[in-house]
Amino acid sequence: AKEPVRVLVTGAAGQIGYALVPMIARGVMLGPDQPVILHMLDIPPAAEALNGVKMELVDAASPLLKGVVATTDVVEACTGVNIAVMVGGFPRKEGMERKDVMSKNVSIYKSQASALEQHAAPNCKVLVVANPANTNALILKEFAPSIPAKNITALTRLDHNRALGQISERLNVQVCDVKNVIIWGNHSSTQYPDVNHATVKTPSGEKPVRELVKDDAWLNGEFITTVQQRGAAIIKARKLSSALSAASSACDHIRDWVLGTPEGTWVSMGVYSDGSYNVPAGVIYSFPVTCKNGEWTIVQGLAIDDLSRKKLDITGAELCEEKELAYSCLS
Ligand code: NDP
Repeated sequence: AKEPVRVLVTGAAGQIGYALVPMIARGVMLGPDQPVILHMLDIPPAAEALNGVKMELVDAASPLLKGVVATTDVVEACTGVNIAVMVGGFPRKEGMERKDVMSKNVSIYKSQASALEQHAAPNCKVLVVANPANTNALILKEFAPSIPAKNITALTRLDHNRALGQISERLNVQVCDVKNVIIWGNHSSTQYPDVNHATVKTPSGEKPVRELVKDDAWLNGEFITTVQQRGAAIIKARKLSSALSAASSACDHIRDWVLGTPEGTWVSMGVYSDGSYNVPAGVIYSFPVTCKNGEWTIVQGLAIDDLSRKKLDITGAELCEEKELAYSCLS
C-alpha cells in the first residue's frame, strides 16, 4: 500500500475549504489509490467551525483518509506536509483600499512562508489560492528561500477551466474535447484568456477553435470578458463567491502537477517567471505548462500576435505594480 501524502489546506473552515477537503479525502486531487492525511489550518475565531468540518470528515468515512489534523497552530499545520493548498486569506471588505487588503495578506503569507520552510516535508509543493493569489505566492517564495521557486505556484486553473467551459458551450461540444486554451498573467481582471492555440477534437480530427467558432469579434471580445468576469457573475447569482469550482480546479492543478498532463495537452499555472515570452521575470505569472515527473515546464515557441502581445504586457505590468505595492506594505 502507498504511504499517505500529507495535504495542508489553510482557511479550511471557509467556503472553498469546505468544498475542497472532501474532494481531497475522496481521491479527486491525488487519485483513487493514494491515501491522504489532511492538515487543516484556520484562525482562532474559526476554530469551532473547523472542528465541525473535522467531525464531518470523520462521518464521511472515506477509506483514503488516514488522519485529520485540525489546528489553529501554523507550525503544527505545516509539519511534514507534502502539498500545501493556501486558501486562507483576508477578504476584501467594503470600503477597504486595495493596499489595506494587500498589507493584511502579505503579512499572512510572509509568516506562513517561514512555517512552511521550516516544517514542511522536503520538496513540498505549494499552491496559493487566496487573493491576490499571484502576489501572495510571490511573497511566500521570497520569504521561504530554501523552498525551490519551482515548487511555489498560484491558481489560474479555474480561469483556464472557465475558458474551456465557454468554448464548449458555444460550440456545443464536450468540454473534454476542448484543450490548450491559455490563461496568461495575473488571476485578476487583467488576465488574458487566449484561444489562439486551442483545439477541439472532432470526428474529422483536431480543429483550431478559431476555425470552428468563425467569430473573431466574439473570441476577442465577449469570450474574454465573460471569462474575466465569471467570478463576479457567480457572486451575483449565488450571493456567495465560487467555491465548488475553485476547489475542483485546485484539485486539477495539483493532480496534473503531480501525476502529469496528458500527451499533447497543456494547462495554465501561475509560476515564477523566467521572462519567457518577454514577460517580466521575477513575478508569478500564469503560463501554459506541461507537467511530467512532478515538474512543470513552460510551453515554448507559441506564436504571439499583436493583440495578444498587448494583453500579455498589460497583465505583466499589473503584476509588477502589485509586487511593488506588496514590498511597500512590508517595509
Ligand atoms: P473563500 O473560501 O471563499 O475564499 C478564500 C480565498 O480564496 C479568498 O482570498 C478568495 O479571494 C480566494 N479565491 C481565489 N479564487 C477564488 C475564486 N475563484 N472564487 C472565490 N474565491 C477565490 O473565503 P472564506 O472567507 O469563506 O474563507 C476564508 C478562510 O480563511 C476562513 O476560514 C478564515 O477564517 C480564513 N482566514 C485565514 C487567515 C489566516 O490564515 N491568517 C486570515 C483571514 C482569514 P476573494 O477574497 O478575492 O474572494
